[in-house]
Amino acid sequence: MITFCTSKLYYFLKPAIPWPIRIRARRLLADHLRKQIRNSWPILPSSAKPPKGWPGWPNSKQFAFVVTHDVEGVRGLARCRKLADLDQALGIRSAFNFVPEGEYRVPDTIRAKLDQDGFEVGIHDLHHDGSLYRSSRHFSEQAPRINRYLNAWVASGFRSGFMFHNLDWVHRLNMLYDSSTFDTDPFEPQPDGVGTIFPFWVQDGDRKGYVELPYTLPQDFTLFVLLKERTIDLWTQKLDWVASHGGMALVIVHPDYISFDGKPNDSEYPADLYKRLLKYVISRYGDICWVALPREVATYAAQFRPSLVPSTYT
Ligand SMILES: [Zn+2]
Repeated sequence: MITFCTSKLYYFLKPAIPWPIRIRARRLLADHLRKQIRNSWPILPSSAKPPKGWPGWPNSKQFAFVVTHDVEGVRGLARCRKLADLDQALGIRSAFNFVPEGEYRVPDTIRAKLDQDGFEVGIHDLHHDGSLYRSSRHFSEQAPRINRYLNAWVASGFRSGFMFHNLDWVHRLNMLYDSSTFDTDPFEPQPDGVGTIFPFWVQDGDRKGYVELPYTLPQDFTLFVLLKERTIDLWTQKLDWVASHGGMALVIVHPDYISFDGKPNDSEYPADLYKRLLKYVISRYGDICWVALPREVATYAAQFRPSLVPSTYT
């Protein structure tokens, strides 16, 4: 398993390693890892226990379904409109998380249009180069810049690049929720999960706090690019399990890896796979599922402050 230190070295060297070599190495590691984690991925049975003070979902809904899109690079940025149209055509509103100072700049017009159409806009890291969590001091130096974007974009949420996380440091950001963790995902460079399929409150001493929204469905990149899955069976298997335990099915889908032209390359998968997931949720759970934006779930959870205490994660 890759340790946090090794992964820091990896992100330092990453720009110098060609993509075909990187992805081949990651696929070998992922195939090896997959054989060892059958009892903890994609389902970690202990994560079904609700946090203390969890009130259940509003309007007696059985579970929540939350769609988020992380826009990694210029390729993803160019596909945002198509992805938003796909969501909209099926009646889904999702959150688009943009990198403020990465390899692209987000035109104000794109953010405004998403906002106008009922989508949410969030912050995804700052540079998306794996450096944000390098040290506590470095994080503190970057936090004011991230806070400026949170304020300027009127954004409620933050997600780090590569799902690096330290729930204590995140208190330095002025947002309603963080979504940089997961219930279980051993394929991530910092693989310690929070072990819950529910939103939970992270308190900062007796001062403020924020809501943590772990993602709970496998990432599209992991399923279709790394593991080369050709069906959505792992998505629906996990979704059914989360639904049966009344949790939050939160998925991350990247426009960068979706092929809309029917000719996916080695780092892409057909848009139809994602479309099938949305159709599955709507047709099977339409009446009993709260299809919500992450900021809506966070606003709801913040009223009750469900807590992981006694904490499985500190
Ligand atoms: Zn990312």
